[in-house]
Amino acid sequence: MQRRSRQRDAILKVLEMEGVHPTAEDVLLEVRKEIPNVSLGTVYRNLDQLCEAGMIWKVQVEGEPCRYEGNPDRHLHAVCPFCGEIRDVWPSGDPVSRDSLPEEFAEAEYRLLLISPCKKCRRKDLKPAGPT
Ligand SMILES: [Zn+2]
Ligand SMILES: [Zn+2]
Repeated sequence: MQRRSRQRDAILKVLEMEGVHPTAEDVLLEVRKEIPNVSLGTVYRNLDQLCEAGMIWKVQVEGEPCRYEGNPDRHLHAVCPFCGEIRDVWPSGDPVSRDSLPEEFAEAEYRLLLISPCKKCRRKDLKPAGPT
């Protein structure tokens, strides 16, 4: 039990950093600096449990591995289709106001993604990769 919560704490510590949206594998690399023998399966299991407990959140981007974050505030995500960079977007005002939702969906979570080349990729004059 002791070991398990140590892993959980290490995972939470990674996700508490501001503005980070690591994949499970990124989390694994960070956690291994502290607990070298931790496995990817353990990381996934802990991430799932933390998601279920509402302590962290999943950011799902189509065609990409899930990202995780520990930021509890309601915000949107902008994703670069070239490099996968994710940035938090803090809308001024509520773009999807609770009043505009049907009553039975009033508890809807924010899962909106804004897709845009990031600053770095815009400079490279890339064409978006089509569906494979
Ligand atoms: Zn980019
Ligand atoms: Zn975020």
